[in-house]
Amino acid sequence: MSAQPFDYRLDGIYRQRQEGSFMQRVKLPAGVISAEQARAVADVSLRFGHGTIHLTTRGSIEIHWLKESDLPEVKRALSKVGLTTRGACGGAVRGITCSSQGAAGFPALETMARRLQRHFAGNPRFERLPKKFKIGVEADNAGRRHLIQDVGLVFAGNDTEGSRFDMYLGGGLGREPQAGFLFETAVNEKRIIPLIEAVARVYAVHTPPGKRVKHLVREIGEAEFRRRVSMEPSFAEELPAIAGLPETLAPAAGNRRIEVCFFGGFLSALQLKELADFADELADGVLMATANQDIALHISSASDFAGASSALRQAGFELGGTTFRICPGSHLCRVGLSPTSDIAGTIIDAMGPAAKALTWAFSGCHNSCAQPQLADAGIVSSTLVKDEQGERSPRFDLYRLGDQGLGGVVAPSLTLDELCSKVREIG
Ligand code: SF4
Repeated sequence: MSAQPFDYRLDGIYRQRQEGSFMQRVKLPAGVISAEQARAVADVSLRFGHGTIHLTTRGSIEIHWLKESDLPEVKRALSKVGLTTRGACGGAVRGITCSSQGAAGFPALETMARRLQRHFAGNPRFERLPKKFKIGVEADNAGRRHLIQDVGLVFAGNDTEGSRFDMYLGGGLGREPQAGFLFETAVNEKRIIPLIEAVARVYAVHTPPGKRVKHLVREIGEAEFRRRVSMEPSFAEELPAIAGLPETLAPAAGNRRIEVCFFGGFLSALQLKELADFADELADGVLMATANQDIALHISSASDFAGASSALRQAGFELGGTTFRICPGSHLCRVGLSPTSDIAGTIIDAMGPAAKALTWAFSGCHNSCAQPQLADAGIVSSTLVKDEQGERSPRFDLYRLGDQGLGGVVAPSLTLDELCSKVREIG
């Protein structure tokens, strides 16, 4: 019997654009990480990488500039503090994301995210799927992030049988963005895992390699997709959670949440260590990677909130400011079409007060990792065009968000100058 080929992606590893360098992604359920774990991530980056950390729009953490020979030791160092990388990339159930960390009911959402991660991470029944399988848990529909998941769960209340969630299926961004559709309302928490298993099995069996759930839904139609899911043995099953002590780390924030902002989600490992120390002192030892690529702290009731903000500012951290999500683009990513962080700087220079008040997101290719279709104004590097001298320069699509659903293209294929003019027009 021949051994299965080793699959770096299932261990959360991508090759960087730079030959011989690798990126390790770490899954954080609902973006939550303890101070001890954050220090371990920082230490890995300092020891094996270049001392930089990247925060993704799905609340995961990435460590770049790793050597192939160091990857096993990197994995061991992260595992020692209970962090998992399994399924962080490739055809697997990815990190369970949550953009509602500031909501009053966040501990229930973190509980569900942890339960889902525990069930699906490294479960061989749900690895080697045709492509990524994304799950998000949200407090409400406000941020529309439930629309871009393969499975989007939106809290729908509690009753005597536990929590209930509205379930949306088949959403995704990429070259053909599609908003998820409402599959079932008020699903009891006991049915969530069996129902997701049914969806994942239908997906695995009926979808060609490289395609998402949304592709299958488009191919066979919503009605037939529902029928196939309902025929799965686990469709009607219940899987009650075995009672145990609470394992949530993050307390509800109330109005004691502080977001520490990082341009493009990049910070140094030393900054992460410093924030871990702040978290120990002020926030019960818990940090949160946010959907806007920042780090949030929920300041404990025993700590002085105003004093915490001022101490963070004095330490040189930026609190608040324009939200501008940015993917790594061609700085690091093999398929990036433009140097996103550099270009974002030029775009910010063109912004007036009205533009600065909007949320922005910029992706270096159609994969849309920065989620430009969910920002007030989104930008995608859509193509490269050769000029008369044979130089290839990027073109950009500008997206705007409407009253509902995903944002759409309002100005396609702009040069950088044309894009900056559009930004200036916003005011
Ligand atoms: S959007 Fe494209 S360029 Fe940016 S990180 Fe994702 S795959 Fe890479």
